[in-house]
Amino acid sequence: LSERLSGVFDRLSKQGALSDEDVKTALREVRVALLEADVSLPVARDFVKAVQDKATGQTVTRSVTPGQQVVKIVHDELVHVLAGEGEPGELKIDNAPAPILMVGLQGSGKTTTTGKLAKRLTEKNGKRVLMASLDIYRPAAMEQLRVLGQQIGVDTLPIVPGENAVQIAKRAKQQATLGGYDVYMLDTAGRLQIAQTLMQEIEDVRDAVNPRETLLVVDGLTGQVAVEVAEEFDGKIGISGVVLTRMDGDGRGGAALSMRAVTGKPIKFVGLGEKMDALETFEPDRIAGRILGMGDIVALVEKAQDTIEAEQAERMMKRFQKGRFNMNDLKMQLEQMIKMGGMEGVMGMMPGMGKMSKQMQGAGIDDTVLKQQIALIQSMTKMERANPQILQASRKKRIAKGAGLEVSDLNKLLKMQRQMADMMKKMGKMGKGGMLKQAMS
Ligand code: GDP
Ligand code: MG
Repeated sequence: LSERLSGVFDRLSKQGALSDEDVKTALREVRVALLEADVSLPVARDFVKAVQDKATGQTVTRSVTPGQQVVKIVHDELVHVLAGEGEPGELKIDNAPAPILMVGLQGSGKTTTTGKLAKRLTEKNGKRVLMASLDIYRPAAMEQLRVLGQQIGVDTLPIVPGENAVQIAKRAKQQATLGGYDVYMLDTAGRLQIAQTLMQEIEDVRDAVNPRETLLVVDGLTGQVAVEVAEEFDGKIGISGVVLTRMDGDGRGGAALSMRAVTGKPIKFVGLGEKMDALETFEPDRIAGRILGMGDIVALVEKAQDTIEAEQAERMMKRFQKGRFNMNDLKMQLEQMIKMGGMEGVMGMMPGMGKMSKQMQGAGIDDTVLKQQIALIQSMTKMERANPQILQASRKKRIAKGAGLEVSDLNKLLKMQRQMADMMKKMGKMGKGGMLKQAMS
């Protein structure tokens, strides 16, 4: 599959901006890759469309083929969609005792995951955990949890025959309160298919304990089914997060993308085996790589991008060392500031410059002002940008007007550029860039 993809991508070897056709051709294969990774059809379709809109027109990094560029864009978008907001693996378990409700189909790994999570909360978070099985239909399931509890040293609610699920849940709550537990986990019964009676039972349990977290446990090897399950459970019960199990298998984990797309809820953990410590927090980057199966290409494009940024910084540094700092340099600085969302940029990293950036901040310079300043520079001719000292009063008026601003705004900008050029000169004299080099690296 990976070969097939790179084959298609190699055919797209024009440089420059990604054309509509480049992207479309590549994405047809991406769609196949997603389906082969078990992403559900509508999800794959939507995802591809979103990427199509984003990718077209983007520039192709030097020494990278358009096809490789598309892979990188697809990968980044995958990571973005998979990640969502919030920290992976984070659970709302303050206000002891916090109930965690575990739901999902039979065989998805609920009981196993309950044990794994209890172990993790105990050992990593120092919580006192109580586990209770609500599986009144299969005595063996209750016994399974009890044995797991013994094995990992986590308490389980004593089994009382004849109780219904809600009664067990209430008893768990009571015992958790009386016993000073931080968390109590309710391992619900599952069916092989979604059954309405079971849904009703889980709803009743939910209403009885008001869970802080309702985690849907889904077999990561299932594709389309996973989506239906997620829709049903989220719609009826309302879930707060997902745990994907069996990610140790050779499935490509496409269910992860479907889960995110369908529920919008975070994937919190992944199960990586049958053992009690085989649970990890969800890492979008890793799963994205697995779904796409093209980690090497992604790494290659990232490296090319890093190299180009490093070259740019190097070029700028050389100019600064010579004490050169014209309007083009200033424009780059301003753009960098906008990109980095503040006054830091390259400038903030340089000794002596921190003070100036503070001054600018003090003067209330924000994005709008930065953009105005860039507009002023853009109204200048090439010659004027390289040698701003040649500007005459009449040209100043024209430039300010061209940017929709006042001459006083332009004068401020010119002053800023002069000050910075001065500073560069001084720093350049201080031992051929020793200081500057340090600051830039
Ligand atoms: P439940 O019916 O939802 O409670 O599912 P169980 O927790 O009983 O798990 C069903 C089977 O799946 C058991 O044999 C587990 O050992 C196995 N299992 C659970 N999670 C994982 C996992 O992450 N990886 C692997 N390989 N097996 C798992
Ligand atoms: Mg079970």
